Amino acid sequence: MTEQTYEQTQNDHDEVTYCAVHPDRETGLRCNRCGRYMCAQCAVQTPVGYRCRECVREVDNKFFTGTLADSVVAFAVAAAVAAVGGFLLIQLRITGILLLMIFAAIPAGGALAQGIFRAVGKRRGRYTAQIAAAGVLIGAAGVTFLTGGFRSIGLWVFAGIVAALVYGRFRLN
Ligand SMILES: [Zn+2]
Ligand SMILES: [Zn+2]
Repeated sequence: MTEQTYEQTQNDHDEVTYCAVHPDRETGLRCNRCGRYMCAQCAVQTPVGYRCRECVREVDNKFFTGTLADSVVAFAVAAAVAAVGGFLLIQLRITGILLLMIFAAIPAGGALAQGIFRAVGKRRGRYTAQIAAAGVLIGAAGVTFLTGGFRSIGLWVFAGIVAALVYGRFRLN
């Protein structure tokens, strides 16, 4: 403890406090869970007020109950559905109709997101959103590669929207 902070602890009503992580940054803001002082950079705004990064992480760990197997399932379902769906779209020769691709992608993405969510027992993993979205894109990439439909912008627009919706489903409640 430096002389300066020692003096401050002696003087309660005029106390100058510093961030627990950055001792050179003055702050009066405290984590509402553990009470430590934190600077603007360390504070995380949550629905229940400002908290430090460690507390946010701890609460997240209780929230994210997904297992490694869930990630594998999420990826496999996403990639398989995207591959089969992409194949059908190419076979139907409708990927050139961009507007149709955009409108069709929204319910398709919602349905796939819900399907994946059920497949993983409605558990969320810290990275399930990213893994499932990557599955969609990789599945779509695989089918465009195999069918030679790589130049189909419509299919990529479709896959992009579906991937974004799947991502959003796992990020939000
Ligand atoms: Zn805290
Ligand atoms: Zn800080």
